[in-house]
Amino acid sequence: MNLLLIGGGGREHALAWKLAQSPLLTKLFAAPGNPGIAEHAECTDLDISDHRAVIEFCGRHDVELVVVGPEQPLVDGLADSLKRAGIRCFGPSAAAARLEGSKGFTKDLCAKYDIPTAAYGRFTDAAAAKAFLDGRSPPFVIKADGLAAGKGVVIAEDRAAADAALDDMFGGAFGGSGAEVVIEEFLEGEEASLFALCDGKTVVPLAGAQDHKRVGDGDTGPNTGGMGAYSPAPILDDAMTARVMRDIVEPTARAMAAEGAPYVGVLYAGLMIGPDGPQLIEYNCRFGDPECQVLMKRMDSDLLPALVAVCDGTLADISVAWRSESALTVVMAAEGYPGTPKKGGEIRGLDTAEASGATIFHAGTKVADGKLVANGGRVLNVTATGPSLKVAADTAYKACAAIQWEDGFYRRDIGHRAL
Ligand code: ATP
Repeated sequence: MNLLLIGGGGREHALAWKLAQSPLLTKLFAAPGNPGIAEHAECTDLDISDHRAVIEFCGRHDVELVVVGPEQPLVDGLADSLKRAGIRCFGPSAAAARLEGSKGFTKDLCAKYDIPTAAYGRFTDAAAAKAFLDGRSPPFVIKADGLAAGKGVVIAEDRAAADAALDDMFGGAFGGSGAEVVIEEFLEGEEASLFALCDGKTVVPLAGAQDHKRVGDGDTGPNTGGMGAYSPAPILDDAMTARVMRDIVEPTARAMAAEGAPYVGVLYAGLMIGPDGPQLIEYNCRFGDPECQVLMKRMDSDLLPALVAVCDGTLADISVAWRSESALTVVMAAEGYPGTPKKGGEIRGLDTAEASGATIFHAGTKVADGKLVANGGRVLNVTATGPSLKVAADTAYKACAAIQWEDGFYRRDIGHRAL
């Protein structure tokens, strides 16, 4: 089977690496891909916002399945266009991708179907939002409704910071994504993510993971796309996973079907696990990046038949097996990230790093004049497995030390909560 993979980050390199091991794969294409993905796929600069061009590409290359890595093409309806053209797409319709694309939509769905989540209000103007805060006590959780690349959430420690965040959002800091704002009750607990496949009816849990959002050691500094992740997440043991499936994920899949927008793809549940049990923080309509990297290293089964089953509505026939090993990934980022990263610095030593047992997934890299150089904020994902999280972390950090890249930095404490 020929496949087209959409995206060019570490998540997509991990998917390409896993899909390339499938005996069912004939040829993998990637748009745009990256130098790591290019080891497994033919990369193309296809404009993925041009749905007709994507459909034509699939026709020309006998592509039978399109796997979409990032959220934006899904929110933009790429899965709908492909489905209309009779091409399988792993990823939800635009209507179902509202689970990520509109925080207000998800909060209303949770309220209607009794899915545990923080109490909330939805607002379209600053005055009403501020009036809602009167008489409430901080911290205030303030979220732009739409996609904001992980930057649209402010946890305000006092009323002045909350008012400033509201003025910012309604003032256009996030464009159309901030035209509506959700204010939530602050939840206490430990965060973890659970991933599940869904074919519109059947839901199959994958595995849990925990990530590190802050740029600095000890969870300090600004938020990033994620500086590292590990799986399994000790807090998501079998009993907690079953509870999250029963109380949150399965009711959501039933709710989406009942609302006429059955969910097809991977559902990423961001959870807060506190004294009252698990509560939903957010849904994402795709694999996490960097969580996907650790999931792919731990998955024992062939990924490709599972993705096809999701698209064909035959997930009930699939079971996904996992290695009992732990996996951990350390993100190497370019100096300046999450602000303006320094690009163009040469990266050397990847072979030596991989020889120490790690797998290196590329994110923001490119080849220039025959050299591998940094070309983004998050640049490499140094990923390792081991019989324990400690062994996986030691292997990953040994590999990081072998990489020569002047402008690179990474956190030294990935996995610290679980270690
Ligand atoms: P992401 O980059 O994870 O997709 P996002 O912009 O979609 O982020 P959320 O996941 O909703 O936003 O929130 C970002 C972070 O803010 C969460 O990971 C969590 O740490 C914190 N957070 C969000 N909602 C709450 C809440 N109700 N109570 C406490 N913390 C919260």
